[in-house]
Amino acid sequence: MKTDDEWKRALTPMQYAVMREGGTERAFSGEHWNRNEDGTYVCAGCGTELFTSADKFDAGCGWPSYTRAIDEGRIQELSDTSHGMDRTEVRCAKCGGHLGHLFDDGPEPTRLRYCINSLSLGFKPAPKP
Ligand code: FE
Repeated sequence: MKTDDEWKRALTPMQYAVMREGGTERAFSGEHWNRNEDGTYVCAGCGTELFTSADKFDAGCGWPSYTRAIDEGRIQELSDTSHGMDRTEVRCAKCGGHLGHLFDDGPEPTRLRYCINSLSLGFKPAPKP
């Protein structure tokens, strides 16, 4: 979709470190972990709509967390054994951008927790009624 140089120009240095190099932003540092408005969260790399506020919950971890994606097909899951942990990495299926990790300690109805970097997401507020 884009070359590495193009990603460097398209993303901020911090976004590049997370989305293209698999980094993790500092907990409680991002702009979405504490956001409560209705709306849609999109991939910061390509604009694909990934998560909705209806599935967001407060995991207390300092990163925006969701019980499900808008569409499973928009998320790519990969095994990540870095840092001595056995985790599932999640990426945007369209642009390959690193989003965060998927854990199985979430609330109902899925008991899943998509733990996502704010830097990997944009937010589109729902239209006001
Ligand atoms: Fe994307």
